[in-house]
Amino acid sequence: MNKLTIDNIDLKGKRVLVRVDFNVPLDENLKITDDIRITESLPTIKKIISDGGKAILMSHLGRPKGGPNPKYSLKPTAVRLAELIGKEVKLATDCIGDEVKAMVNSMKDGEVLILENVRFHPEEEKNDPEFAKKLAELGDVYVNDAFGSAHRAHASTEGVTRYIKTSVAGYLMQKELDYLGKAIAEPKRPFVALLGGAKISGKIDVINNLLNKVDTLIVGGGMAFTFFKAMGKEIGKSLLETEKVQLAAEVLANSKKSGVRILLPADVVIASEFDNNSPSQVVSIDDIPADKMGLDIGPESIKLFSNELMKAGTIVWNGPMGVFEMDNFAKGTFEIAAILANATAKGAVTVIGGGDSAAAISKAGLKDKVTHVSTGGGASLEFLEGKALPGVIALNDSK
Ligand code: AMP
Repeated sequence: MNKLTIDNIDLKGKRVLVRVDFNVPLDENLKITDDIRITESLPTIKKIISDGGKAILMSHLGRPKGGPNPKYSLKPTAVRLAELIGKEVKLATDCIGDEVKAMVNSMKDGEVLILENVRFHPEEEKNDPEFAKKLAELGDVYVNDAFGSAHRAHASTEGVTRYIKTSVAGYLMQKELDYLGKAIAEPKRPFVALLGGAKISGKIDVINNLLNKVDTLIVGGGMAFTFFKAMGKEIGKSLLETEKVQLAAEVLANSKKSGVRILLPADVVIASEFDNNSPSQVVSIDDIPADKMGLDIGPESIKLFSNELMKAGTIVWNGPMGVFEMDNFAKGTFEIAAILANATAKGAVTVIGGGDSAAAISKAGLKDKVTHVSTGGGASLEFLEGKALPGVIALNDSK
């Protein structure tokens, strides 16, 4: 990574303004259901505390639509962080203003303060310069550890760096960029990308970028059906993006030219309705009845994909293999998660690009059995598309 990191700067006595990604899922009682985004930022926070800096954390949570809303308060994250570091964590009532400034100025070295949700101000998402300036006034140095928000040019991720001289990456940001960057730039071969999820439209740029880099591209999930349609197969009532059939045909043709193998499912689990209770059966991809839809990959596909994945040196996975939210169509996704864990044990570098695939790995209890699970869904997708992330570009270069 060609950016300065928290290891390159002096933190002692400094007001360290840190953009974290504490956008954690909450249940209806505002209890955190998954705290990985908090635990993953601990190395950065602990480093600031132990070096005698004042950690001033800022984050968004949910989509409060530009006004204060207790439902989206960062309070639960302050409580959880205090438990995790065994130390008091204060919560400010806002993220800018005189009261917040006074709180920051009264902090002692090694103390931790969380500013209230930056999205309580519409200026955050508009990357308003005045708002960014007010945030910047709270810190002597800026650390961005919010990989999950780095694809957005918002005030707390990008604007703020225009008003603070020293802007560096935190450990989580560094880890994400190192793993994702290395997997793509210097993959151990064979390099296999495994893409799933609903739509080609959301991932076409990823497909195009990866086609220049991978040896094999495996496509599962709903988006495989648009490819099958392009191949002239009957796909019944399966998910189809009619306007993307041509694009799918082009991808298939391009892959032939560039010598990249595209592997599609051999069989699918079909049902009459998009419903967990709809009776299901496994059929070959050539035998989908006109009144049925494919909702998961079948056992032959799992075997086919497994053979390829177990030979891989590097695997990047993004998107579920089926409708994994429904138990009866979740098998493909969870079996693939287990195969990735096995491939890792055999020596492959396995990188899970956030979102649903990260949730599946986590639910399967295999988070620690793969090389890296990204904390950023959208950000990791944009990274896989080959795009530069505004929150990363904004940081000081190391050379
Ligand atoms: P994406 O956001 O594009 O990664 O899509 C994720 C969604 O794709 C999940 O909510 C899955 O339920 C859905 N999905 C995966 N496979 C299928 C399928 N065969 N039919 C319909 N939806 C699917």
